Amino acid sequence: MAIAFIDLKSQYRQYKKEIDEAIAHVIDNTSFILGKEVSDLEQTLSRYVGVQHTISCSSGTDALFIALMALQIKPGDEVITTPFTFFATAEVIALVGATPVFVDIRPDTYNIDSSRIAKKITKRTKAIIPVDIFGQVADFDEIIAIANSNSILVIEDAAQSFGAIYRGQKAGSLGTIACTSFFPAKPLGCFGDGGAVFLNNDELASRVRAIMNHGQTKRYVHSQIGVNGRLDTIQAAVLLSKLNHYDKELIERTRIAKRYREELRDIKEVILPVVLDDRTSVYAQFSIQVPDRAEFIAYMQGKGIPTAIHYPIPLYRQEAFSYLNCNTEDFPVTEHVCKHIVSLPMSAFLTEEDQTKIIDAIRNYYGA
Ligand SMILES: *Cc1c(COP(=O)(O)O)cnc(C)c1O
Repeated sequence: MAIAFIDLKSQYRQYKKEIDEAIAHVIDNTSFILGKEVSDLEQTLSRYVGVQHTISCSSGTDALFIALMALQIKPGDEVITTPFTFFATAEVIALVGATPVFVDIRPDTYNIDSSRIAKKITKRTKAIIPVDIFGQVADFDEIIAIANSNSILVIEDAAQSFGAIYRGQKAGSLGTIACTSFFPAKPLGCFGDGGAVFLNNDELASRVRAIMNHGQTKRYVHSQIGVNGRLDTIQAAVLLSKLNHYDKELIERTRIAKRYREELRDIKEVILPVVLDDRTSVYAQFSIQVPDRAEFIAYMQGKGIPTAIHYPIPLYRQEAFSYLNCNTEDFPVTEHVCKHIVSLPMSAFLTEEDQTKIIDAIRNYYGA
């Protein structure tokens, strides 16, 4: 059997009976839109993350878009974020008509470098969107201190970090509002697209919930412009089933990451991911840096080992953002990391045998 980059098939085989029953139940009672599983999931997620309100929605991108709409981010506003993330983080800023302002990342965690944020704040800055890249929460205390002293909002992009812990708090509970994704490849994925918004403010939560469903407060009563951003009941049922196993999966992911570290740490060409002492990572990716990435990937491919690049192109280099006229010299760390980063297979279902093959291949390649 070929090694899977993320082994969703083994995961499904393991939980098949439970998930199939949960899906069949939704089909049986035809409660496809906003069925009971959706509100059950929202309550379960609120308890898990430690927030007052969860509003489930149709994707991580929509979660961010709805959050920005609810916070009334608009044309003329600037929103600070990282250029080393999935496109959606900055895409939604542009979608509401605001301007993304990129700040370089830390060389160790690849999260936004909080020491560089203050320089980019102007009178137009309305919010910061830190991304918990690869499953590790960004430097929230520092970011919130900067935000508070400048009266700007913080929106946590926790698309990759659901379940991670930062100084005793769960990812998704930091900042004014937080968003996550249940895209299948994320640490907690559904069987299609899905996402959620987390927050503690009652009034803002009502606004988010309305925007998620056409700005509707009562049936056919629309208090504002919104979107069709609902999570399917079938996806909620899948997530409720998978959540029962999630903490156990996180333990597995941590164990697999620990083994990668232990068995790769003496290879001088390989730079391992850094997780700081005051937080955990859920390892949405286990990404290393290598000096000769193209050759490394080709070698691994020859050995039947899939790899992926998260991310090959910094957002300020994307054609869609060419109008921002960013200066690449402002981003020395992002420039370097985008050229050298490569992600190894990671999931709770990566077998010991397959991990041995991956580790042996890397050691062989570098003659270690
Ligand atoms: C995946 C991801 C998103 C978008 O989530 P979707 O569910 O795919 O729309 C946003 N931000 C980050 C950092 C992501 O990794």
